[in-house]
Amino acid sequence: MAAKGDSGEKLAALIASRILDVPDFPKPGIVFKDLMPLFADGAAFTEVIDGIVAHHGRTGFDVVAGIEARGFVIAAAVAYAAGTGVIPVRKAGKLPRATLSATYALEYGEASIEVHADAFTAGQRVLVVDDVLATGGTAEATLGLIERAGGSIAGFSVLLELEFLNARQRLSNRQVHALLKV
Ligand code: AMP
Repeated sequence: MAAKGDSGEKLAALIASRILDVPDFPKPGIVFKDLMPLFADGAAFTEVIDGIVAHHGRTGFDVVAGIEARGFVIAAAVAYAAGTGVIPVRKAGKLPRATLSATYALEYGEASIEVHADAFTAGQRVLVVDDVLATGGTAEATLGLIERAGGSIAGFSVLLELEFLNARQRLSNRQVHALLKV
């Protein structure tokens, strides 16, 4: 079956060819989608980053926010390609100054993410990136947190969306750009 994604079959197939499935990681029953082979391949990584910038347009956003930790890799590359800055959305307790935080449900328990309270200027257009969109809980919390911090969401891109988890339903008020959908 042809690979599918929001930036066409070629990019979707490229990403699909650079993902390793790791069964039962980090716990039994989860298939971990390891994108390190994509990050490690210079030509493929460049093509994918350029695809994200092309989708949103070089002038379509003012800053890029990456979700810890693999999102940082993507965010920094996109920011460099577009000539913008990059803002890390971090796990609780990592940022040194005053923060805003959002707590969200995980399969078991909960997690919190944080940004510096002064990370965004009012109305700054923020492109948010991450590696994998699973249930959408992390994305929902992150997008809301950025808005509370004064940013305006210019777009949300992921390399891989796990469609069977229905994150788009949860994010129905958001535009999701997924380069590969499985
Ligand atoms: P979720 O909040 O369920 O959408 O989970 C998204 C976050 O968890 C992202 O930051 C992903 O990096 C990570 N994640 C969730 N499921 C997987 C998976 N099967 N493989 C790799 N990363 C995952």
